[in-house]
Amino acid sequence: LTLGLPDGDDDFPTRIAAIKAQFTHSWLAAGGAEQPRTGSRVASRRSGVWQRHFWEHLIRDQDDFNAHLDYLHYNPVKHGLAKCPHQWPYTSFHKWVASDGYEPNWQCTCDRQTPLPPKFHGIDERLLEMAE
Ligand SMILES: [Zn+2]
Repeated sequence: LTLGLPDGDDDFPTRIAAIKAQFTHSWLAAGGAEQPRTGSRVASRRSGVWQRHFWEHLIRDQDDFNAHLDYLHYNPVKHGLAKCPHQWPYTSFHKWVASDGYEPNWQCTCDRQTPLPPKFHGIDERLLEMAE
């Protein structure tokens, strides 16, 4: 899925807000769960469906693209949802493997290998700064 804006229009925040609002409405109407709302969420009338921020970043070059892709594919491992990227079913990793974009055993620990964690070139640090 690729989202684009008309030429000369870079107002991502408005579009992201609209997408999140529409999703939240549909999600809650369908009985979807939300996290407990903290005092500040209640005060600012925010639901417990989304994190507060989104992260807008223009991909600079192929290396930056690769680092972001690695970040996405390693995230389920980082958060303890899977032991290896290939064990997480809800990922584009399998599609990338099928088109030779990744080795099937990228970051795999099934054979007691201990691959070095991927380097994300500061993506983690930037996300942490945003969360503060
Ligand atoms: Zn594995």
